[in-house]
Amino acid sequence: MSPITKKNSGPPVPSGAIPQRGADSYAIVPRLPSGVITADQLEALARAIRTYEIPIAKLTSGQRIALVGIKAGDVPGVWADLGMGEGRAVKHGVHYVQACPGTAACGYGQQDSLGLGAWLEELFSGLDLPAKVKVGVSGCPMCCGESYVRDIGLVGRKNGWTVVFGGNAGGRPRMGDELAAGLDADQALELVGRVLEHYREQAKKCQRTARFVEARGIASVRAALGLAEPGVRD
Ligand code: SF4
Repeated sequence: MSPITKKNSGPPVPSGAIPQRGADSYAIVPRLPSGVITADQLEALARAIRTYEIPIAKLTSGQRIALVGIKAGDVPGVWADLGMGEGRAVKHGVHYVQACPGTAACGYGQQDSLGLGAWLEELFSGLDLPAKVKVGVSGCPMCCGESYVRDIGLVGRKNGWTVVFGGNAGGRPRMGDELAAGLDADQALELVGRVLEHYREQAKKCQRTARFVEARGIASVRAALGLAEPGVRD
């Protein structure tokens, strides 16, 4: 973790921290790919919460744990004690990959959503993009991973993965569009990489994928990626 960095105005912000309401209060969000956590990480989190008297530990909608209300001087020590990477929370790029249990633990699972979620996080979490990108991976069409309302969504079906682009669950919600279906895991990852590259090159700064698709039209995105129009699903 690099030393304290200076914001444009106001007090210096410790590296890897998010300013909170009130002076000298910060939050951190450790990286927890697909919301999977080990016993060692849980123990490290509990120790840090007690040691630094962190007032709020909050499960986020992105399947992460935010530690909120940390004093500026304690931030480097908390990170060092946790020994965990930083999950993006304010910078532009892939903020998180949420994934349902899929075939690892769910009787309805048709594909390995946790496995694909881990690969997505590994391959794309460092990418700089025009705006934040959220990814949802579901092991079957019931979509517990909220795949159709995430910037990038993956849905497991018996014949493989469906890749969805341009969803959003915010104040202007949008259902994502299917780009392709029946893909194996490698093909799905390759397509996600290509659509993110297209988005990175063509979108305006701060333009979320939903607004990008609304502005360009999904047909233009498909054409740029050399994809056919999808057939009608039963
Ligand atoms: S989306 Fe399907 S596989 Fe995933 S948790 Fe829900 S029911 Fe299970």
